[in-house]
Amino acid sequence: MSCATLAKGLLDLEVARARMIAAAEPIRGEAFVALGQAVGRVLSRDLAARLDMPSIDNSAMDGYALCLAELGERGLAELGERGLPVVMRVPAGAAVSALPEGGCARIFTGAPVPEGADCVIPQERVTLDGEDRMHVRGEAKPGANIRRRGEEYRAGDVLLPSGATLNPAALAMLASQGIAEVPVLPRLTVALISTGDELIEPGEPCLPEQVYNSNREMLKALLEQQGCEVLDLGIIGDTAEALHAALTTARDSADLVICTGGVSVGEEDHVRPVLEALGGLVFHGVAIKPGKPFAFGFLDDGSPEGVPLIALPGNPVASLVGWQLLARPFVQGRQGRTVGPLQRFNVRAGFSRRGNQGRRELLRVVIDWQGEHPVALLSGGQGSHMLRAASQAHGYLMMAADTDVEEGHEYPYLPAGQFVD
Ligand code: AMP
Ligand code: MG
Repeated sequence: MSCATLAKGLLDLEVARARMIAAAEPIRGEAFVALGQAVGRVLSRDLAARLDMPSIDNSAMDGYALCLAELGERGLAELGERGLPVVMRVPAGAAVSALPEGGCARIFTGAPVPEGADCVIPQERVTLDGEDRMHVRGEAKPGANIRRRGEEYRAGDVLLPSGATLNPAALAMLASQGIAEVPVLPRLTVALISTGDELIEPGEPCLPEQVYNSNREMLKALLEQQGCEVLDLGIIGDTAEALHAALTTARDSADLVICTGGVSVGEEDHVRPVLEALGGLVFHGVAIKPGKPFAFGFLDDGSPEGVPLIALPGNPVASLVGWQLLARPFVQGRQGRTVGPLQRFNVRAGFSRRGNQGRRELLRVVIDWQGEHPVALLSGGQGSHMLRAASQAHGYLMMAADTDVEEGHEYPYLPAGQFVD
Protein backbone atom coordinates (compact mmCIF):
# COMPACT_ATOMS: atom_id res chain seq x y z
CA MET A 1 0.00 0.00 0.00
CA SER A 2 1.44 3.41 -0.88
CA CYS A 3 1.58 5.97 1.92
CA ALA A 4 -0.29 8.45 -0.30
CA THR A 5 -3.51 6.54 0.27
CA LEU A 6 -3.25 6.72 4.08
CA ALA A 7 -5.57 8.95 6.05
CA LYS A 8 -3.78 12.15 7.06
CA GLY A 9 -1.76 12.07 10.27
CA LEU A 10 -1.99 8.30 10.71
CA LEU A 11 1.03 6.02 10.69
CA ASP A 12 1.24 3.00 8.39
CA LEU A 13 0.85 -0.29 10.28
CA GLU A 14 4.25 -1.70 9.25
CA VAL A 15 5.99 1.57 10.17
CA ALA A 16 4.26 1.68 13.56
CA ARG A 17 5.12 -1.98 14.19
CA ALA A 18 8.77 -1.47 13.26
CA ARG A 19 8.96 1.54 15.56
CA MET A 20 7.47 -0.44 18.45
CA ILE A 21 9.90 -3.33 17.93
CA ALA A 22 12.90 -0.98 17.63
CA ALA A 23 11.91 0.76 20.89
CA ALA A 24 11.57 -2.47 22.89
CA GLU A 25 14.56 -2.56 25.22
CA PRO A 26 14.97 -6.14 26.61
CA ILE A 27 14.54 -6.45 30.36
CA ARG A 28 17.72 -7.22 32.34
CA GLY A 29 18.42 -9.78 35.06
CA GLU A 30 18.46 -13.55 35.47
CA ALA A 31 16.79 -16.19 37.58
CA PHE A 32 17.11 -19.98 37.67
CA VAL A 33 13.83 -21.87 37.53
CA ALA A 34 12.97 -25.57 37.60
CA LEU A 35 11.84 -27.06 34.27
CA GLY A 36 8.35 -27.55 35.75
CA GLN A 37 8.00 -23.77 36.15
CA ALA A 38 9.77 -22.79 32.95
CA VAL A 39 7.14 -23.09 30.21
CA GLY A 40 6.77 -19.77 28.40
CA ARG A 41 9.87 -18.26 30.06
CA VAL A 42 12.65 -16.72 28.00
CA LEU A 43 16.24 -18.00 28.12
CA SER A 44 18.73 -15.44 29.40
CA ARG A 45 21.71 -17.12 27.69
CA ASP A 46 22.58 -19.75 25.12
CA LEU A 47 22.15 -23.33 26.39
CA ALA A 48 24.63 -25.97 25.19
CA ALA A 49 24.24 -29.76 25.14
CA ARG A 50 25.86 -31.67 27.98
CA LEU A 51 25.66 -35.06 26.27
CA ASP A 52 25.98 -36.38 22.73
CA MET A 53 22.48 -37.15 21.42
CA PRO A 54 21.90 -40.06 21.37
CA SER A 55 24.48 -40.66 24.08
CA ILE A 56 25.11 -44.26 22.91
CA ASP A 57 24.40 -46.31 19.77
CA ASN A 58 20.93 -47.74 20.44
CA SER A 59 18.23 -49.70 18.67
CA ALA A 60 15.41 -47.90 16.83
CA MET A 61 13.24 -51.06 16.78
CA ASP A 62 12.28 -54.17 18.68
CA GLY A 63 14.22 -56.86 16.77
CA TYR A 64 17.55 -58.68 16.47
CA ALA A 65 21.04 -57.17 16.39
CA LEU A 66 23.66 -58.95 14.30
CA CYS A 67 26.94 -58.39 12.48
CA LEU A 68 26.44 -58.19 8.70
CA ALA A 69 30.18 -57.68 8.13
CA GLU A 70 30.77 -61.16 9.54
CA LEU A 71 28.50 -62.78 6.92
CA GLY A 72 30.50 -62.01 3.79
CA GLU A 73 29.56 -60.66 0.36
CA ARG A 74 26.07 -62.12 0.08
CA GLY A 75 24.93 -60.60 3.36
CA LEU A 76 21.87 -62.21 4.92
CA ALA A 77 21.48 -64.55 1.91
CA GLU A 78 24.74 -66.14 3.11
CA LEU A 79 22.88 -67.52 6.11
CA GLY A 80 20.64 -69.70 3.89
CA GLU A 81 18.66 -72.22 5.96
CA ARG A 82 21.24 -72.10 8.71
CA GLY A 83 19.90 -69.14 10.72
CA LEU A 84 21.78 -67.44 13.56
CA PRO A 85 21.62 -68.54 17.20
CA VAL A 86 20.15 -65.95 19.59
CA VAL A 87 22.89 -65.71 22.22
CA MET A 88 21.97 -62.51 24.13
CA ARG A 89 18.95 -60.53 25.29
CA VAL A 90 19.22 -56.71 25.63
CA PRO A 91 16.19 -54.84 27.03
CA ALA A 92 16.20 -51.00 27.29
CA GLY A 93 18.16 -49.84 30.30
CA ALA A 94 20.37 -52.96 30.43
CA ALA A 95 24.15 -52.72 30.41
CA VAL A 96 25.54 -54.63 27.46
CA SER A 97 28.60 -56.74 26.63
CA ALA A 98 30.05 -57.44 23.16
CA LEU A 99 28.18 -59.69 20.72
CA PRO A 100 29.89 -63.08 20.48
CA GLU A 101 30.92 -64.05 16.93
CA GLY A 102 28.44 -66.20 15.04
CA GLY A 103 25.44 -65.17 17.14
CA CYS A 104 22.79 -62.44 17.31
CA ALA A 105 21.07 -60.54 20.13
CA ARG A 106 17.37 -60.15 20.89
CA ILE A 107 17.09 -56.33 21.32
CA PHE A 108 14.41 -53.76 22.17
CA THR A 109 13.82 -50.10 21.19
CA GLY A 110 16.19 -47.78 23.03
CA ALA A 111 18.48 -50.59 24.24
CA PRO A 112 22.25 -50.22 23.71
CA VAL A 113 23.52 -51.99 20.60
CA PRO A 114 26.21 -54.52 21.61
CA GLU A 115 29.70 -53.89 20.32
CA GLY A 116 30.24 -55.97 17.19
CA ALA A 117 26.63 -55.66 15.93
CA ASP A 118 26.19 -53.40 12.88
CA CYS A 119 22.45 -53.61 12.17
CA VAL A 120 19.09 -54.39 13.73
CA ILE A 121 16.49 -56.48 11.89
CA PRO A 122 12.91 -55.57 12.90
CA GLN A 123 11.13 -58.47 14.60
CA GLU A 124 8.37 -58.43 11.93
CA ARG A 125 10.89 -59.80 9.42
CA VAL A 126 12.19 -62.60 11.61
CA THR A 127 11.07 -66.17 12.47
CA LEU A 128 12.58 -68.32 15.19
CA ASP A 129 12.96 -72.08 14.85
CA GLY A 130 12.69 -74.65 17.65
CA GLU A 131 16.41 -74.30 18.44
CA ASP A 132 16.19 -70.54 19.05
CA ARG A 133 17.87 -69.76 15.75
CA MET A 134 16.81 -66.66 13.89
CA HIS A 135 15.81 -66.66 10.18
CA VAL A 136 15.43 -63.39 8.27
CA ARG A 137 13.21 -62.48 5.31
CA GLY A 138 14.64 -59.89 2.92
CA GLU A 139 17.90 -57.90 2.97
CA ALA A 140 19.48 -55.39 5.35
CA LYS A 141 22.10 -52.64 5.10
CA PRO A 142 24.88 -51.93 7.61
CA GLY A 143 23.65 -49.37 10.17
CA ALA A 144 19.96 -50.18 9.59
CA ASN A 145 17.74 -49.34 12.58
CA ILE A 146 20.60 -48.14 14.73
CA ARG A 147 20.44 -44.62 16.19
CA ARG A 148 24.08 -43.59 16.19
CA ARG A 149 25.72 -41.79 19.10
CA GLY A 150 25.79 -38.02 18.41
CA GLU A 151 23.84 -38.26 15.14
CA GLU A 152 21.44 -35.50 16.26
CA TYR A 153 23.95 -33.22 18.02
CA ARG A 154 27.16 -33.33 20.05
CA ALA A 155 27.96 -32.25 23.62
CA GLY A 156 28.86 -28.54 23.47
CA ASP A 157 26.56 -27.71 20.54
CA VAL A 158 24.12 -24.82 21.18
CA LEU A 159 20.63 -26.28 21.69
CA LEU A 160 18.69 -23.06 22.28
CA PRO A 161 19.85 -19.46 21.87
CA SER A 162 19.40 -16.69 24.40
CA GLY A 163 15.94 -15.15 23.77
CA ALA A 164 14.29 -18.49 22.93
CA THR A 165 10.89 -19.06 24.52
CA LEU A 166 10.67 -22.38 26.32
CA ASN A 167 7.87 -24.37 24.73
CA PRO A 168 6.92 -27.91 25.81
CA ALA A 169 9.17 -29.56 23.17
CA ALA A 170 12.11 -27.41 24.32
CA LEU A 171 11.47 -28.48 27.93
CA ALA A 172 11.47 -32.13 26.79
CA MET A 173 14.78 -31.61 24.98
CA LEU A 174 16.37 -30.03 28.08
CA ALA A 175 15.03 -32.86 30.24
CA SER A 176 16.57 -35.36 27.77
CA GLN A 177 19.91 -33.71 28.56
CA GLY A 178 19.47 -34.17 32.29
CA ILE A 179 19.04 -30.41 32.78
CA ALA A 180 16.75 -29.66 35.75
CA GLU A 181 17.02 -25.85 36.04
CA VAL A 182 17.28 -23.14 33.41
CA PRO A 183 18.49 -19.52 33.41
CA VAL A 184 15.65 -17.19 32.39
CA LEU A 185 14.97 -13.47 32.14
CA PRO A 186 12.73 -11.89 34.80
CA ARG A 187 9.02 -11.70 34.07
CA LEU A 188 7.80 -8.34 32.81
CA THR A 189 5.49 -6.51 35.24
CA VAL A 190 2.74 -4.73 33.34
CA ALA A 191 0.38 -2.23 34.97
CA LEU A 192 -3.10 -2.27 33.46
CA ILE A 193 -5.48 0.70 33.61
CA SER A 194 -9.03 0.88 32.23
CA THR A 195 -10.26 4.42 31.68
CA GLY A 196 -13.89 5.52 31.35
CA ASP A 197 -16.56 7.07 33.61
CA GLU A 198 -19.09 4.64 32.14
CA LEU A 199 -17.21 1.49 33.16
CA ILE A 200 -18.17 -0.94 35.91
CA GLU A 201 -16.85 -4.41 36.69
CA PRO A 202 -18.77 -7.62 35.84
CA GLY A 203 -20.71 -8.90 38.84
CA GLU A 204 -21.91 -5.40 39.78
CA PRO A 205 -25.47 -4.24 38.94
CA CYS A 206 -25.48 -2.14 35.78
CA LEU A 207 -27.42 1.09 35.05
CA PRO A 208 -28.54 1.51 31.42
CA GLU A 209 -25.87 4.12 30.71
CA GLN A 210 -23.07 2.01 32.17
CA VAL A 211 -20.78 -0.39 30.32
CA TYR A 212 -19.15 -3.52 31.70
CA ASN A 213 -15.36 -3.49 31.54
CA SER A 214 -14.47 -6.09 28.94
CA ASN A 215 -10.96 -4.88 28.11
CA ARG A 216 -9.58 -5.66 31.54
CA GLU A 217 -10.38 -9.39 31.37
CA MET A 218 -9.13 -9.63 27.80
CA LEU A 219 -5.84 -7.83 28.34
CA LYS A 220 -5.17 -9.50 31.67
CA ALA A 221 -5.57 -12.89 29.96
CA LEU A 222 -3.46 -11.85 26.95
CA LEU A 223 -0.66 -10.54 29.15
CA GLU A 224 -0.69 -13.62 31.36
CA GLN A 225 -0.65 -15.85 28.27
CA GLN A 226 2.45 -13.93 27.26
CA GLY A 227 4.11 -14.69 30.60
CA CYS A 228 3.73 -11.21 32.14
CA GLU A 229 2.97 -10.36 35.75
CA VAL A 230 -0.17 -8.16 35.67
CA LEU A 231 -0.70 -5.32 38.11
CA ASP A 232 -4.36 -4.42 37.73
CA LEU A 233 -4.92 -0.77 38.69
CA GLY A 234 -8.67 -0.93 38.01
CA ILE A 235 -10.95 1.68 36.47
CA ILE A 236 -9.95 5.34 36.30
CA GLY A 237 -12.47 8.16 35.70
CA ASP A 238 -12.25 10.56 32.76
CA THR A 239 -10.34 13.44 34.32
CA ALA A 240 -6.79 14.51 33.58
CA GLU A 241 -6.03 14.54 37.33
CA ALA A 242 -7.19 10.96 37.92
CA LEU A 243 -5.27 9.71 34.89
CA HIS A 244 -2.15 11.66 35.88
CA ALA A 245 -2.23 10.08 39.34
CA ALA A 246 -2.87 6.56 37.97
CA LEU A 247 -0.11 6.77 35.37
CA THR A 248 2.35 8.04 37.97
CA THR A 249 1.55 5.09 40.29
CA ALA A 250 1.76 2.66 37.36
CA ARG A 251 5.08 4.10 36.18
CA ASP A 252 6.61 3.66 39.62
CA SER A 253 5.61 0.01 39.99
CA ALA A 254 5.87 -1.61 36.54
CA ASP A 255 8.17 -2.24 33.57
CA LEU A 256 5.42 -1.23 31.16
CA VAL A 257 2.04 0.51 31.44
CA ILE A 258 -0.96 -0.37 29.28
CA CYS A 259 -4.18 1.65 29.40
CA THR A 260 -7.36 1.46 27.38
CA GLY A 261 -9.82 4.17 26.33
CA GLY A 262 -9.54 7.94 26.26
CA VAL A 263 -6.97 7.90 23.47
CA SER A 264 -9.01 9.61 20.72
CA VAL A 265 -9.14 13.38 20.31
CA GLY A 266 -12.40 14.31 22.10
CA GLU A 267 -12.45 16.52 25.23
CA GLU A 268 -13.09 13.39 27.35
CA ASP A 269 -9.87 11.82 25.99
CA HIS A 270 -7.05 12.67 28.37
CA VAL A 271 -4.38 10.09 27.53
CA ARG A 272 -2.43 12.09 24.98
CA PRO A 273 -2.17 15.39 26.93
CA VAL A 274 -1.33 13.57 30.18
CA LEU A 275 1.31 11.44 28.43
CA GLU A 276 2.81 14.60 26.95
CA ALA A 277 2.85 16.22 30.39
CA LEU A 278 4.42 13.17 32.07
CA GLY A 279 7.03 12.30 29.49
CA GLY A 280 6.84 12.07 25.75
CA LEU A 281 4.67 10.84 22.94
CA VAL A 282 6.36 8.72 20.24
CA PHE A 283 3.35 8.41 17.96
CA HIS A 284 -0.45 8.62 18.03
CA GLY A 285 -2.85 7.16 15.45
CA VAL A 286 -2.33 4.17 13.16
CA ALA A 287 -4.00 3.68 9.77
CA ILE A 288 -5.85 0.48 10.70
CA LYS A 289 -9.48 -0.36 11.26
CA PRO A 290 -10.20 -1.26 13.98
CA GLY A 291 -7.38 0.15 16.11
CA LYS A 292 -6.80 3.72 14.92
CA PRO A 293 -6.66 5.44 18.34
CA PHE A 294 -3.36 3.92 19.49
CA ALA A 295 -0.63 5.88 21.25
CA PHE A 296 2.88 4.98 22.32
CA GLY A 297 5.25 6.95 24.48
CA PHE A 298 7.41 7.00 27.58
CA LEU A 299 6.59 8.14 31.11
CA ASP A 300 9.51 9.94 32.69
CA ASP A 301 10.73 8.17 35.83
CA GLY A 302 14.10 9.91 35.92
CA SER A 303 15.84 7.04 34.08
CA PRO A 304 17.27 7.72 30.59
CA GLU A 305 14.53 5.93 28.67
CA GLY A 306 11.60 6.12 31.13
CA VAL A 307 8.75 3.60 31.46
CA PRO A 308 6.91 2.79 28.21
CA LEU A 309 3.19 3.49 27.94
CA ILE A 310 0.96 1.79 25.39
CA ALA A 311 -2.48 3.38 25.10
CA LEU A 312 -4.99 1.08 23.42
CA PRO A 313 -8.41 2.10 22.12
CA GLY A 314 -11.50 1.77 24.32
CA ASN A 315 -13.52 -0.26 21.85
CA PRO A 316 -12.71 -3.86 22.76
CA VAL A 317 -12.06 -5.24 19.25
CA ALA A 318 -9.85 -2.24 18.45
CA SER A 319 -8.03 -2.91 21.70
CA LEU A 320 -7.54 -6.57 20.74
CA VAL A 321 -6.19 -5.71 17.28
CA GLY A 322 -3.90 -3.03 18.75
CA TRP A 323 -2.58 -5.60 21.18
CA GLN A 324 -2.00 -8.29 18.56
CA LEU A 325 -0.36 -6.16 15.90
CA LEU A 326 1.51 -3.53 17.90
CA ALA A 327 1.56 -4.03 21.67
CA ARG A 328 2.40 -7.74 21.67
CA PRO A 329 5.59 -7.44 19.56
CA PHE A 330 6.72 -4.66 21.89
CA VAL A 331 6.05 -6.84 24.95
CA GLN A 332 7.95 -9.70 23.31
CA GLY A 333 10.91 -7.46 22.58
CA ARG A 334 10.86 -6.16 26.17
CA GLN A 335 10.75 -9.79 27.38
CA GLY A 336 13.96 -10.44 25.45
CA ARG A 337 12.18 -12.58 22.86
CA THR A 338 12.93 -12.57 19.18
CA VAL A 339 10.00 -11.01 17.33
CA GLY A 340 8.99 -12.69 14.07
CA PRO A 341 7.29 -11.03 11.10
CA LEU A 342 3.51 -11.13 10.72
CA GLN A 343 2.54 -14.49 9.22
CA ARG A 344 0.21 -14.18 6.26
CA PHE A 345 -0.80 -16.11 3.19
CA ASN A 346 -3.44 -15.57 0.54
CA VAL A 347 -6.95 -16.93 0.97
CA ARG A 348 -10.01 -16.56 -1.26
CA ALA A 349 -12.82 -14.34 0.02
CA GLY A 350 -16.30 -15.89 0.07
CA PHE A 351 -18.02 -12.48 0.20
CA SER A 352 -17.89 -8.98 -1.30
CA ARG A 353 -17.61 -5.77 0.70
CA ARG A 354 -16.75 -2.09 0.29
CA GLY A 355 -13.22 -1.16 1.29
CA ASN A 356 -12.18 1.38 3.89
CA GLN A 357 -10.89 4.80 2.89
CA GLY A 358 -7.46 5.68 4.14
CA ARG A 359 -6.97 2.76 6.53
CA ARG A 360 -6.06 -0.89 6.25
CA GLU A 361 -8.94 -3.02 7.47
CA LEU A 362 -8.67 -6.23 9.46
CA LEU A 363 -11.83 -8.20 8.79
CA ARG A 364 -12.69 -10.89 11.32
CA VAL A 365 -13.17 -14.12 9.35
CA VAL A 366 -13.54 -17.87 9.71
CA ILE A 367 -12.02 -20.29 7.20
CA ASP A 368 -14.45 -22.68 5.52
CA TRP A 369 -12.70 -25.90 4.36
CA GLN A 370 -15.79 -27.55 2.84
CA GLY A 371 -15.08 -26.81 -0.83
CA GLU A 372 -12.16 -27.34 -3.17
CA HIS A 373 -10.23 -24.38 -1.70
CA PRO A 374 -10.30 -22.81 1.76
CA VAL A 375 -12.57 -19.74 1.72
CA ALA A 376 -12.71 -16.83 4.18
CA LEU A 377 -16.17 -15.86 5.45
CA LEU A 378 -17.02 -12.97 7.77
CA SER A 379 -17.35 -14.33 11.31
CA GLY A 380 -20.11 -11.83 12.16
CA GLY A 381 -20.62 -8.08 12.69
CA GLN A 382 -17.48 -6.04 12.02
CA GLY A 383 -18.00 -3.09 14.38
CA SER A 384 -15.01 -2.30 16.63
CA HIS A 385 -17.28 -2.96 19.64
CA MET A 386 -18.55 -6.34 18.35
CA LEU A 387 -16.80 -8.98 20.40
CA ARG A 388 -18.83 -11.95 19.19
CA ALA A 389 -17.30 -12.03 15.70
CA ALA A 390 -13.85 -11.33 17.16
CA SER A 391 -14.17 -14.17 19.67
CA GLN A 392 -15.17 -16.65 16.94
CA ALA A 393 -12.73 -15.56 14.22
CA HIS A 394 -9.98 -17.86 12.96
CA GLY A 395 -8.02 -14.84 11.80
CA TYR A 396 -8.11 -11.62 9.79
CA LEU A 397 -8.40 -10.84 6.13
CA MET A 398 -6.11 -7.83 5.83
CA MET A 399 -7.44 -5.40 3.23
CA ALA A 400 -5.29 -2.59 1.86
CA ALA A 401 -6.77 0.90 2.22
CA ASP A 402 -9.31 1.90 -0.45
CA THR A 403 -9.67 -1.70 -1.70
CA ASP A 404 -13.02 -3.45 -2.11
CA VAL A 405 -13.31 -7.16 -1.30
CA GLU A 406 -14.47 -9.10 -4.37
CA GLU A 407 -15.83 -12.56 -3.85
CA GLY A 408 -13.54 -15.25 -5.29
CA HIS A 409 -10.42 -13.02 -5.21
CA GLU A 410 -7.49 -13.74 -2.91
CA TYR A 411 -6.34 -11.46 -0.09
CA PRO A 412 -3.72 -11.72 2.67
CA TYR A 413 -4.97 -13.75 5.63
CA LEU A 414 -3.41 -13.49 9.10
CA PRO A 415 -4.12 -16.65 11.15
CA ALA A 416 -5.03 -15.76 14.75
CA GLY A 417 -2.96 -18.69 16.06
CA GLN A 418 0.21 -16.63 15.55
CA PHE A 419 -0.88 -14.23 18.30
CA VAL A 420 -1.00 -16.78 21.10
CA ASP A 421 2.37 -18.57 21.03
P1 AMP B 1 -13.06 5.71 24.30
O1 AMP B 1 -11.87 5.24 23.53
O2 AMP B 1 -12.77 5.96 25.72
O3 AMP B 1 -13.70 6.87 23.60
O4 AMP B 1 -14.10 4.53 24.23
C1 AMP B 1 -14.62 4.07 23.01
C2 AMP B 1 -15.75 3.09 23.25
O5 AMP B 1 -15.22 1.96 23.92
C3 AMP B 1 -16.86 3.59 24.12
O6 AMP B 1 -18.08 3.07 23.65
C4 AMP B 1 -16.53 3.04 25.48
O7 AMP B 1 -17.65 2.88 26.32
C5 AMP B 1 -15.94 1.69 25.11
N1 AMP B 1 -15.00 1.24 26.13
C6 AMP B 1 -13.97 1.93 26.63
N2 AMP B 1 -13.31 1.21 27.53
C7 AMP B 1 -13.93 0.02 27.59
C8 AMP B 1 -13.72 -1.16 28.35
N3 AMP B 1 -12.70 -1.24 29.22
N4 AMP B 1 -14.55 -2.21 28.16
C9 AMP B 1 -15.56 -2.12 27.29
N5 AMP B 1 -15.81 -1.04 26.53
C10 AMP B 1 -15.01 0.03 26.70
MG1 MG C 1 -13.66 6.81 27.29
